[in-house]
Parts: sequence; C-alpha cells; structure tokens
Amino acid sequence: MTAASASAIAQRLNEIRPTIPPSVRLIAVSKQMPVEAIRSAYAAGVRDFGESRVQEAEEKQAQLRDLTDITWHLIGHLQSNKAAKALELFDYIHSVDSLKLAQRLDAIAKSLAVKPKILLQVKLRPDPNKFGWDPVELWTDLPVLDTLDHLDIQGLMVIAPYGLPEQETLALFVEARDLAATIQQHPWSRLTMQELSMGMSEDYLLAIQAGATMVRLGRTLFGERT
Ligand SMILES: *Cc1c(COP(=O)(O)O)cnc(C)c1O
Repeated sequence: MTAASASAIAQRLNEIRPTIPPSVRLIAVSKQMPVEAIRSAYAAGVRDFGESRVQEAEEKQAQLRDLTDITWHLIGHLQSNKAAKALELFDYIHSVDSLKLAQRLDAIAKSLAVKPKILLQVKLRPDPNKFGWDPVELWTDLPVLDTLDHLDIQGLMVIAPYGLPEQETLALFVEARDLAATIQQHPWSRLTMQELSMGMSEDYLLAIQAGATMVRLGRTLFGERT
C-alpha cells in the first residue's frame, strides 16, 4: 500500500477543500487503503468515508470502533447475499443497481425496522463492465421502486466512463442531474432525488459544476492505490 503519510493527507485536504462548496459532501474513498490512512483523514476533519467492499469495510470498521461519528458510504457493487451485512455497516448505499437488489434491501430493512438511505446507480453510457440502470430500464422500474416504503431513496449515483473527454464528462453529469430532476417532477413520483453522488479524483470539479451534492475522492486524497 502506498498510502500517503498523515501530513501529506492533511496537506492534500487543505488543497482540495477550497475547491468544494460547503453544500457538497466530500466522501473520502478509503478502499484498499490501510486504517491508518482513515485515521489521518479523520484527524484532519473528514467524517465521510467510502468503501467498495463489504468485507473490507467490516474488517476496517472493527479497528476503528473508537471513531464513533464516521458516516460510512458503500460505493461498490453489492451482492444480494451481503445485503443484510451492508445495512449493518453502512449509513448510505450509493450502489443500488438493480430492482432485485432494491427489493432485497427493502425486505431486510422491513424486518429490521430501519429505513436505510440509498442511491440508485445509473449508467448513462453503455459499459459492459459497469453496473447500474440505463435510463430506459430505470423508467420501467421506477413505479416499483417508488413503492419500496422501507428504503429512503435519496437520489442518483453515476460513474463517468474512464478517459471520457472533459466536455462529454460534463455533459454526462448534466444528464444525471436532469434525470434526477425529471424523476422528481414526474406526476406519480414520491421520490425526492435531492442527492447526486458523482465525481471522482479526475472529474469532481466537473461534477460539482453540474450539481453534484456528494463527490467521492480516493487517489487525490490518499495517493495511488496499488
Ligand atoms: C474507487 C472509486 C472512487 C474513487 O476513485 P478515485 O479515482 O480514486 O478518486 C469513487 N467512486 C467509486 C464508485 C469508486 O469505485
């Protein structure tokens, strides 16, 4: 692991923070980074952390029990058989990417009498390696999603394809924002869609320009993953 030192992380945060408006939540993506890196970012004031894998998050959280005010975000694909564990470990699940998974989470949430905060992951460009609804599928599933009373559906999550030119990346983020607005305004929809989780190290400034409310920053904060 090539995690940056505590002082380097604090320094990077000092540089990144002025570029993020106070209304936008900075999520430090700590996947593949050691717990020391999480402690360093925490010491520098970060309280939102993103992890991609349930098991990795479980191991790290066990070592971070003393940091009681962290908000944990799951940002990676979730298998149905880990849905219950994910609800136990995470405050937000950004990566709800199918109706089947949403229904499973809803059923578990009902049995636990909880109402987890989730985002719907959308895929606005075809990409066989990425998860998420394409907009046509999402419109098909929305009436059912709208009835899942045990989920607090807060908005959309989107990942821009790697290497997309800047103008196209911006256009994609604007599309995500417009999709969220269209869903919210739809006559039958009870969904509020106030959150837009979009933007990573390479493209978060474009995402903020397009209206992101959460940016997910890994490498620019912690250094390269191995
Ligand atoms: C890894 C990851 C990030 C962080 O990416 P960086 O390029 O390191 O900032 C953000 N979002 C998701 C969904 C990821 O998997």
